[in-house]
Amino acid sequence: MEGMTDRNDDLFDAARAVIPGGVNSPVRAYGSVGGTPRFLASARGARVTDAAGREYIDLVASWGPALLGHAHPEVVRAVQDAAARGLSFGAPTAGEVELARLVAERVRVGDARPVEHVRMVSTGTEATMTAIRLARGATGRDLLVKFAGHYHGHSDGLLAAAGSGVATLALPGSAGVPAPIAAQTLVIDYNDPEALAAVFAEHGDRIAAVIVEAASANMGVVAPLPGFNRLIAETAQAHGALMILDEVLTGFRVHPAGFWGLQQESGEHYLPDIITFGKVIGGGMPLAALGGRAEIMDLLAPTGPVYQAGTLSGNPLSVAAGIATLRLATPEVYATVDAAAARLAAALDAALTDAGVVHAVPRAGSLFGVAFSAAAPKTYAQAQAQESFRYAPFFHAMREQGVALPPSVFEAWFLTAAHGEEELTTIEAALPAAAAAAASA
Ligand code: PMP
Repeated sequence: MEGMTDRNDDLFDAARAVIPGGVNSPVRAYGSVGGTPRFLASARGARVTDAAGREYIDLVASWGPALLGHAHPEVVRAVQDAAARGLSFGAPTAGEVELARLVAERVRVGDARPVEHVRMVSTGTEATMTAIRLARGATGRDLLVKFAGHYHGHSDGLLAAAGSGVATLALPGSAGVPAPIAAQTLVIDYNDPEALAAVFAEHGDRIAAVIVEAASANMGVVAPLPGFNRLIAETAQAHGALMILDEVLTGFRVHPAGFWGLQQESGEHYLPDIITFGKVIGGGMPLAALGGRAEIMDLLAPTGPVYQAGTLSGNPLSVAAGIATLRLATPEVYATVDAAAARLAAALDAALTDAGVVHAVPRAGSLFGVAFSAAAPKTYAQAQAQESFRYAPFFHAMREQGVALPPSVFEAWFLTAAHGEEELTTIEAALPAAAAAAASA
């Protein structure tokens, strides 16, 4: 196949003639692994089919949303039924009430219940952007603390030292962000209690919020050190600032109550002031949300002075997909995904060990990935220092064997409840050749 062009190449050429870089989101362009991105034609369960008719076992899962597997029949039916009733009303609907209740009910462990009110938006970017405005409105302060390597979407103040595509493309931030806006974001090292203490010692009375990925997964998977999330909550709250826990990626994916729920159950107790959700909450449709205590959330318009709005916010099709997905995401689904993740992480580790490749398999709940460094990175600097050149040959060797990985070492591998014995066995069988390719890079 090498050297031959196919329908994917033709489409990529055509795309680049009308779309910047041929893609509507940068990482899709395969910038760091090279080659032609696969244009996907369809997806079902654990598999995706490209424009040339080739099928792959998928470990991208639309970057997280497809927890149940692609095109789950009940989710598709819910969307079809909703579509038949109307695509968008720009008016409140009963479905929004049901989904908000589902979110508030799920994100609780025992008496701990950080989400009382929920506002729905369309993307994770909007959710974090709104959460920050809300934190500023609630505190009357301007400064925001974020962690190097964490990605919270592409709004102006959040691209400083961001992960995901900004890390993949090795960009320092973004052109087009006014310096006075960038200056409102203070970037500190992740998993570094001293840096957290120092930034609050210096600017404590001017900090509106700390925003943190519940477990970072946009510089590769980097779990918070035990106690770090709790320390953030305590430090922020002691200074009158808010903790914004970004669960856009982890929420409803690693546990019914998100990464917060996982931590809460394992004895790390803290209460974030605002939590952002995305991806799984919309089951593959454009939907995201932010939630928190009523007294904070009700500062949003129309009850409060912090403005936020959206023509398509709470879109009925998205809400239908979200309700169906959350209802189907039972404890058994999480147990299935957890077991599959543990099995694949072990197989990945074994294959790279056998091939003599220096590596780690970082994990956070059911999230895992690969790092070409002797120890799992704890900070962005450590993630960047790995031998990331080994990922491209690894990725292509997997793809040639019919397994689609995320096209960057800085992304997590996503499993779904539809990855069964056959898919896991196929992935395991593909790993040794990919590990050998990584070894000879
Ligand atoms: N926060 C986190 C932790 C994310 O991983 C992402 C996207 N991967 C976002 C926010 C932004 O979400 P969206 O792409 O829907 O704007």
